[in-house]
Amino acid sequence: MSNYSFGTCPYNKEHRIMLFRMPGHIVKCMKNYRGPPLQTCKYNAIHRVLDMEEHLKECEDYHKFTENNSFQMALSVRAQPIIYDEDAV
Ligand SMILES: [Zn+2]
Ligand SMILES: [Zn+2]
Repeated sequence: MSNYSFGTCPYNKEHRIMLFRMPGHIVKCMKNYRGPPLQTCKYNAIHRVLDMEEHLKECEDYHKFTENNSFQMALSVRAQPIIYDEDAV
C-alpha cells in the first residue's frame, strides 16, 4: 500500500500529505497559517504559491492545460472544412 503519491503541504513544508487528502488538508491548514497570503493556482486548487508567475513556469497542470488547448486548437483548425472559391482562383 505504498502506491499513494505524497505532496508537500503549501502551508507547512513539514507536512507530507497523501495527494488525495490534500484538498481537505489545505482547507484545515490554511486556517492555522500565519504567513504571507498565498495565491491559489487556477489550474490546480492544491497549488498555493506566493508568486504565481514563477509557479506557472513549473506548474504541471498549467502546462497540461496549455498543451491540451493548443492540441484542441490544432484539431479544430484541421476539422474546419476549407472552402475554396474556385472562381476566384
Ligand atoms: Zn499542512
Ligand atoms: Zn499550479
